[in-house]
Amino acid sequence: PAKVSSAVSYWAEHAPDAPAISDHLGRDFSYRELAGEISESKAFLAQQGIEAGHRVMLVNENCVPLLVAILALSELGAWPVIVNARMAEDEIARIAGHCQPVAELFFLDSEAASRHWKRLDTSGVTDTISLGGGQAGMVMHDASDSGIEPEPGMEDVFCLIYTTGTTGAPKGVMLTHRNIMFIAAISGALRGLSQQDRIYLVLPVSHVFGLSAVFLSALHYGAHFVVADRFDPEIMTRTIREQSVTGIFGVPAMYAKLTDYIASAGLSKPVAPDLRFMYSGGAPLDPAIKQNAESTFGLPLLNGYGMTESGPTICQVRRFDRLASSSVGQPLPGLVTRVLGADGKEVRRGEIGELHVRGPSIMPGYFRNPEATRATLDEAGFLNTGDMVWEDEAGNLTIAGRSKELIIHSGFNVYPPEVEAAILDHPDVLLCAVVGETVPGNEDVVAWVQPRPGCQLSEAGLLAFLKPRLTAYKRPSRVHLVSQLPTAPSGKVLKHKLGKAD
Ligand code: ATP
Ligand code: MG
Repeated sequence: PAKVSSAVSYWAEHAPDAPAISDHLGRDFSYRELAGEISESKAFLAQQGIEAGHRVMLVNENCVPLLVAILALSELGAWPVIVNARMAEDEIARIAGHCQPVAELFFLDSEAASRHWKRLDTSGVTDTISLGGGQAGMVMHDASDSGIEPEPGMEDVFCLIYTTGTTGAPKGVMLTHRNIMFIAAISGALRGLSQQDRIYLVLPVSHVFGLSAVFLSALHYGAHFVVADRFDPEIMTRTIREQSVTGIFGVPAMYAKLTDYIASAGLSKPVAPDLRFMYSGGAPLDPAIKQNAESTFGLPLLNGYGMTESGPTICQVRRFDRLASSSVGQPLPGLVTRVLGADGKEVRRGEIGELHVRGPSIMPGYFRNPEATRATLDEAGFLNTGDMVWEDEAGNLTIAGRSKELIIHSGFNVYPPEVEAAILDHPDVLLCAVVGETVPGNEDVVAWVQPRPGCQLSEAGLLAFLKPRLTAYKRPSRVHLVSQLPTAPSGKVLKHKLGKAD
């Protein structure tokens, strides 16, 4: 299969002057210029001794040099390990310890990456280099111990991305060129992406949603994209208004902040006259967030669902479908899905079961973690998503929750996302997470709640609020009110860290 970077060569040849990337520092690159940056960086990285199979850790927020480095490394057959610079020092060090990179690059456009770099710079093994039109700090490691153990017959790996770490330590997911090309092509086709599009790339490319479904998909169709290093509702609103952005992508928390900001700024409508579509994904989409975004922009907020292991998109609401916020739409064409009950047999349509999926976007496995790979991929190539879903008459899926997080309280199934949605309806609640806690003879529903700053929320007040909204067995037995819940850079609450010191 073609390499991920082939899209750039194609457009550099067929539409060389078409705009490819613009960034927040006012830099603009046409497709020809982008191709030039990539080949220069490729030559430079090769000179440094980077070879096929070497892992190169890229610590970043979104910026042009990072995007160039990803494509240059992939042309060399090296594996970019793309890590969000907002992660804690120890977490980044743990990932480096696991993937054993030959080099680590810290893009100095980014404040967060610079901070990590400065900390390392004192050790004296480092250098500052020019790469992809920017500056990066580089740490080289001994390459002698960096060999990978390629599995027989396995296709070329494009990159290594670590999962969010919601349910345990992050796992390193190998994604091949074919995995990512499939998502870039298919998800873009379903969006009707073309050279006329201008996409706002604010989702970090350290997560596969931003990497394949946004960045590489836009490249595949020769679109122009505007790169943002971080999410700021004011900057985002201004950019999509003034720079004729046609498509935006975000996690639900981002849409909540965006619409709050637009409401408070009292902007005239239409807020974004050139906007043609907007997509949400990565976490359950709250009905109120969907409704606010839709009335703000006058467009449907289209939901999508997936996971790192599947490149990520499994389901995506089609452009012309109008579905409830809880629905994630139909699986991508080309994927085979099965909804299995506890007995391992397919459930009847409408019943809840665990989703298994097979197809061109499913990872070949976790890096250096064969046990986890065996537990997730079966012999026929089906990935167990670990998510509980049900399918409606039209073939659209709704996510009930993760099977690991299912709470069985007094014999009844409680799906945390349903309880979380009810709690989030309370105007004083900013974030929450619902988990099961084993008690003698039962499993309790326990809520962790972060109130909005300055709000006087009490456990009794919240429980009274939930009484008319949830059946008794779904209501929390206990509520912990805390000033700060542990979250990932994407805003997801890291449930396995609840109640533990960092
Ligand atoms: P880890 O696997 O390390 O515990 P994680 O599963 O949160 O972390 P990701 O791969 O980033 O890591 O997230 C994928 C998960 O996010 C899915 O398995 C699903 O539970 C959830 N998810 C993604 N999109 C949606 C959505 N639209 N609605 C509901 N849940 C979603
Ligand atoms: Mg997961």
